[in-house]
Amino acid sequence: MAMKPIPNKCIWCLGEQSSERFNSKSHVLPGCVGNKRQQVLPAGIVCDQCNNFFGRRVEVALINDPIFEARVGILQLRDKKGEFAYNHSPLGVHRVANMEAEISSNKVTLITKYEIKGQPNKPHEIRNISKSKDYSKRDLALLSRAVHKIAFESLAHSLFVKSGLKFEHIDLKNIDIFDRSFEAIRRWARYGEPQGSVRAVLRLQKFDEIKTQEELFQWGGELRYFQQWFCYGLNLFGDWYIMSLTSAADEADGDLRTWAARAKCAQPVWMVGDKLQAIV
Ligand SMILES: [Zn+2]
Repeated sequence: MAMKPIPNKCIWCLGEQSSERFNSKSHVLPGCVGNKRQQVLPAGIVCDQCNNFFGRRVEVALINDPIFEARVGILQLRDKKGEFAYNHSPLGVHRVANMEAEISSNKVTLITKYEIKGQPNKPHEIRNISKSKDYSKRDLALLSRAVHKIAFESLAHSLFVKSGLKFEHIDLKNIDIFDRSFEAIRRWARYGEPQGSVRAVLRLQKFDEIKTQEELFQWGGELRYFQQWFCYGLNLFGDWYIMSLTSAADEADGDLRTWAARAKCAQPVWMVGDKLQAIV
């Protein structure tokens, strides 16, 4: 598919080049967790002010999230300046992980055990990561805003840079990212509106599952229509977030519950909203 031309208009604040600065690239997933080059928006799509805002105020909620942090730790993405410490090969380094999490009210306790095989100095190493976090409503709001930010910029990346999304029956040419149907996600991720609310996200945890390194080191998105809305599945190293890119603020929660009821997921599904709830 031919990519759309760089709009020189910000997908978040809708500011245009005449009024906003557009000097910076925007990393869809933060650069410090392995995304040095793979998914980066060139200048002209996110204005400098919005880009700085997300980096300073929003993305830190994801980077400090215990489950995301554990996955990043297992993959050593923050070591070696964000690049993989080792290359995988059949004879090379290999990681397998086993994660378990418990939720009790808004507290998540995570116990992870993982093996690293084939390092030059330590052929077989076992490490453990234990973390817990008691989420405040503000933590949940920022986490929701961070994953909506990544999802929407990932869509922009597919429209303007490289079609990396998986789709079902969706023609990207017909998507106008500046359309009003995306206004709710713009207002939420960029401005936290409606204030006092938390736009719902589902979080699917594939625990108790042995992962190969290749499976772990993947992020990406899937976009599909579900009823009348765009359902976006974001995979962050095996941690899945399901959200609606187009539901109105007061409908996102109900729409996602409908999705969860239909999807019959085998793994635990949590609703990240005002509270953290296990719903399946
Ligand atoms: Zn902007």
